[in-house]
Amino acid sequence: MNRTHPPILIWLRRDLRLDDNPAIFHAAKTGRPVIPFFVDDDKHLGGAARWWRGRSLLALDSALRSLGSHLVVRRGDALDQVMSLAQESGATALHFNRRLEPRGLAIDAKVVTAARAAGIEIVEHHGNRLHDPWTLKTLKGDPFRVFTPFWRRLAESYQPPAPCPAPTALTAPSTWPGASDLAALEEHAPWTAGMTTQWRPGEAGAQAMLQRLPEKLADYGTARDRPDIEGTSRLSPHLAWGEISVHALWRQLSQEGSPSQNGYLRELGWRDFNSHLLYHFPRLPVDNWNRQFDAFPYRSAPTQLAAWQKGLTGYPIVDAGMRELWTTGWMHNRVRMITASFLIKDLLLDWRDGEKWFWDTLVDADLAQNAGNWQWVAGSGADAAPYFRVFNPITQGIKFDPEGTYVRRWLPELAKLPTHAIHEPSTASLSELSAAHVSLGRSYPLPLVDHAKARLRALATLKALGTAA
Ligand code: FAD
Repeated sequence: MNRTHPPILIWLRRDLRLDDNPAIFHAAKTGRPVIPFFVDDDKHLGGAARWWRGRSLLALDSALRSLGSHLVVRRGDALDQVMSLAQESGATALHFNRRLEPRGLAIDAKVVTAARAAGIEIVEHHGNRLHDPWTLKTLKGDPFRVFTPFWRRLAESYQPPAPCPAPTALTAPSTWPGASDLAALEEHAPWTAGMTTQWRPGEAGAQAMLQRLPEKLADYGTARDRPDIEGTSRLSPHLAWGEISVHALWRQLSQEGSPSQNGYLRELGWRDFNSHLLYHFPRLPVDNWNRQFDAFPYRSAPTQLAAWQKGLTGYPIVDAGMRELWTTGWMHNRVRMITASFLIKDLLLDWRDGEKWFWDTLVDADLAQNAGNWQWVAGSGADAAPYFRVFNPITQGIKFDPEGTYVRRWLPELAKLPTHAIHEPSTASLSELSAAHVSLGRSYPLPLVDHAKARLRALATLKALGTAA
């Protein structure tokens, strides 16, 4: 390969893959030496996401090494690091896949201005969402605020771009710039043990999950709401870190023509919709999208917040979800809705308290998805579930975990309860409780609140706010 040309920098962020990665593909296609790099500049990353990122970067580095290249990791201010890499390597071009969150956009704008001023060619690619948020507008020319018309427009207009096959070799620069120690990005804290057994961060892990997609999609329409079975793809952390291309996923699903593909594609549509919202309303993670909710009198109850975080609310489906989250860094979507509704409506605590906890404990933590969904449940978001929709943690448990399999898996202290009482232990007889070694209030908490009364309190609070539910 031709080594006389100056190298090209490839800036990787949440696109930690070789296959269908436009920035890598187009830089490699020039035949020039390439320098793939990552800048560790995000101090706001949650603990679980930091664990995932460390392993994913190691996996990407080893994949690059098999192509005669490797990943340069730098720490510190992104602008400083990009300019110093360019200066050290003599690179005259920078390729990256666009990112859409407010912080990333602001950093990229500064880097592009400085790099161009230094005579460095900038090549931006579209690689991590189905659409660029400025390309889809309502008939009036505004951003979309309601999912259904957004999805209709996206589904009718979207055409997957041509695939970008993974490179078979990469030209290395004659000298490599200095790099931080990649292993130092790994998290080994004891709380990561459950995640290590559950997940295989990196592109190979994503591909392994993808192989199992057809079996999962067979009954996706109904199975996707069942936390007691593996009815969903569990691809969210791989998508959140860009270890799999959403375009490649769409291409594969469209070829398969499986009966549930439309349902699955629609969920990918929700992922793009939340990114659309965050791009057009950058304060989505901090402000009520519907500002009428600014006057909502959320309570402050640190003890109840801690009980929710630890899975000690006395409502088994809620507690099982919170334990699953703490152990594996992931929670089933149906249970995310139930646990979020319990925090906001049963405890009347601020959705931002929940968003923060999920941000720190989710391996798929994504600013747009987390904020968009928390506000959806709170009723304050765009296209939100109407506030009066208060999830009943007992009937939801009975409906979506009918045998109590999910609760038994995550709450071993209730495992021996008979199924009729597994979602409402107080309905077990004294002999059933004693046979199951359950002592309510001691081995398992009594309910933090009476759901029926809490529901009425939430609705009355909303009514007093005068918000159209
Ligand atoms: P599947 O059912 O297999 O869906 C396929 C893909 O579609 C997912 O991988 C995901 O990328 C996307 N998707 C599915 N459901 C949603 C949804 N409701 N909103 C947006 N995208 C969706 N998802 C995240 O990726 N990161 C988050 O930080 C996040 N926070 C959430 C917070 C709350 C309160 C709620 C209710 C949901 C949140 N979700 C988040 C969405 C959803 O719970 C997960 O994407 C889903 O559970 C991932 O599991 P899966 O890959 O098996 O989904």
